[in-house]
Amino acid sequence: MTVTAALRDALGDIVDVSEAALEAARADSSGHRSSGRPLAVIHAATVADVQQTMRIASQTHTPVVVRGAGTGLAGAANAGPGELVLSTVRMNRVLEIRAEDLIAVVEPGILNAALNARLAADGLWWPPDPASRDISTVGGNIATGAGGLLCAKYGVVRDAVLGLDLVLADGRLMHLGHRSVKGVTGLDLTSLVIGSEGTLGVVVGATLKLRRLVTGESSVLTALFPSVRAAAAATAAVTASGVQPAIMELMDAVSLAAVHDHLRLPAPMPGVAQLTIQTDGPAALVEADRIAETLFAAGGEVTVTRDVAEGAQLLAIRRAMHGAMAALGTTLIEDVSVPRSALAAMFDEIARIEAAYGLTIPTVAHAGDGNLHPNFIFEGPDVPESIWAAADDLFRSAIRLGGTLTGEHGIGMLKSRWLADELGEDQWELQRQIKQVFDPLGILNPGKVFARA
Ligand SMILES: Cc1cc2nc3c(=O)[nH]c(=O)nc-3n(C[C@H](O)[C@H](O)[C@H](O)COP(=O)(O)OP(=O)(O)OC[C@H]3O[C@@H](n4cnc5c(N)ncnc54)[C@H](O)[C@@H]3O)c2cc1C
Repeated sequence: MTVTAALRDALGDIVDVSEAALEAARADSSGHRSSGRPLAVIHAATVADVQQTMRIASQTHTPVVVRGAGTGLAGAANAGPGELVLSTVRMNRVLEIRAEDLIAVVEPGILNAALNARLAADGLWWPPDPASRDISTVGGNIATGAGGLLCAKYGVVRDAVLGLDLVLADGRLMHLGHRSVKGVTGLDLTSLVIGSEGTLGVVVGATLKLRRLVTGESSVLTALFPSVRAAAAATAAVTASGVQPAIMELMDAVSLAAVHDHLRLPAPMPGVAQLTIQTDGPAALVEADRIAETLFAAGGEVTVTRDVAEGAQLLAIRRAMHGAMAALGTTLIEDVSVPRSALAAMFDEIARIEAAYGLTIPTVAHAGDGNLHPNFIFEGPDVPESIWAAADDLFRSAIRLGGTLTGEHGIGMLKSRWLADELGEDQWELQRQIKQVFDPLGILNPGKVFARA
């Protein structure tokens, strides 16, 4: 009996072999596709469905690619020939909301924005806010360790998860972590699973750490600078001033022009880079004034708005970056992160790489936490070797500046060849051995993260 037939026998109609489902599972939002169609997509609706799938996969040594909404940018959810796709999208219930404990227990398939719409009714909020929050799942956010615009002030996924329910490769269910604010019993396996990109197990439940919705006013500042370096230096000055913005985003001149063009807005002044900064909470207005002074002293042309709709419109310009880049061609969206004080130096490196490789690399940055998204644009489906050479230079520059290959998107298949460069051989081997303990048969997302291409 084939593995698909065994799954059908055990799970019935949730085993999908339609052409549309198999084709869709070949690619995430990175623009990269696997070499062919996977065997089947299993639309799990319960923990038992996931356990049964993993038992059959283990018995037959069949690789499994867990999949949320497929919005990932590292090719980590791409499935190919001989592989099963285990979708957790239908597991989308909120199981519990406890306002007094500031926790929620959810299934992995719920969309980030849908969860936050539910929580808002109780005056609560789960802070991680990837720009993809309307379309990405909480399970995917956890498995990638996602960040977002607000994370400089409110933290990333890693700061907002207390416990996880995990189905192992052999089908066993484990409850990791705790429901209390504190908890240091044994090793922190919850943290280990966060950002593990479907290589250690299937997240089937999550106990999330909530916050109360922020009350008070908010302000949005924009500041224009004659160069991206000056804008980056100004963000370091804001950080050094001790005022903590909720959002601090930087767009270089090419990105700003592309987004304005994409949104059919009047063109910005050529060569000008822009900062968009939001303050919130009871001290929002005072903090906005202090940040405006710092930006002005750093040479910025500053405007401040307290109008909520206008503020949202200004942030929408930053949020439209992905669409603007996609309109220019195939995009390799990079994701390096450096210490905040090294942001200006990283922009110098990008300028050097642009000159050395004859490229234009439109770049935006979550400047509040030093995470840059340089975009390589090209034609056709495959990344040309010349672009990989420039990307290689970019990664090495970030690491040299004390930074990392990926701030929030993950390693997936696109960056696995650089993983050992950052970790060093000993740590790479230790991590690979840890993966083997969770998944001795190597059936969970093979070819991703720990593969050396
Ligand atoms: C327009 C756009 C904007 C984006 N903005 C941001 C941003 O601001 N910040 C950011 O961090 N990312 C961003 N992303 C990337 C992406 O949305 C995130 O990585 C997101 O967390 C992926 O969630 P997903 O549900 O789509 O997961 P998928 O893409 O389906 O999967 C991603 C990885 O998670 C694993 N996985 C998924 N579900 C589970 C599960 N239940 N158990 C175990 N493993 C699982 C998969 O195997 C894969 O390795 C953006 C993407 C787009 C398209």
